[in-house]
Amino acid sequence: MKILVASTNPGKIREISEILFTQAIQIVTPPEIDLKIDVIEDGVNFLENATKKAREWSQASGMNALADDSGLSVKALGGLPGVMSARFAGADATDEDNNQLLLQKMAGQTNREAEFICVVVLALTSGDLIIGKGSYRGCILDRMAGSGGFGYDPLFYDPSSGKTFAELTPGQKNKRSHRRRALFDLERKLSGFIKNM
Ligand code: IMP
Repeated sequence: MKILVASTNPGKIREISEILFTQAIQIVTPPEIDLKIDVIEDGVNFLENATKKAREWSQASGMNALADDSGLSVKALGGLPGVMSARFAGADATDEDNNQLLLQKMAGQTNREAEFICVVVLALTSGDLIIGKGSYRGCILDRMAGSGGFGYDPLFYDPSSGKTFAELTPGQKNKRSHRRRALFDLERKLSGFIKNM
């Protein structure tokens, strides 16, 4: 089955392609088909945004399209940055800007608990939607560490490895992440869906 990764975020495209790399699934990226569309992410939650992205990329390409909407939810900030993760420090914010703002907001906070959340939606050309969900708990450090990954990875401490996500190798991050969990959930539902067709 051919699946287009419906994203312009290189970090996400790389991780999704690595995690979903199997004989049964052939991943296609937007640059490979020379397609670039801008989807306005105005949903109130991850599911709404992922569904919108998957549908619009599927319609524009005529292919099955897989979209991920994901972000960081910080307990002491009432779940922020949440769906605003990419734009926490403003519409054109860089990962560095967002991390600096998070550090500022977390200054003096004793509760450092946080969770990465990922919702993936596969929009099939038949019009059917398959949804996968995953999350991963950790905590927010008071300084950045590591240079791998993307987004908030340098501030996200993973208790099981004793490292930030940015200090893990891509393989180590992809073995445990919220994205891996969501894609596994989706793969399981997709094989059930194919069996019942
Ligand atoms: P989206 O493109 O609206 O889904 O934005 C997701 C944003 O959430 C990214 O730009 C990152 O800031 C953050 N994010 C999502 N997944 C990860 C991850 O695996 N590591 C670090 N940051 C992430």
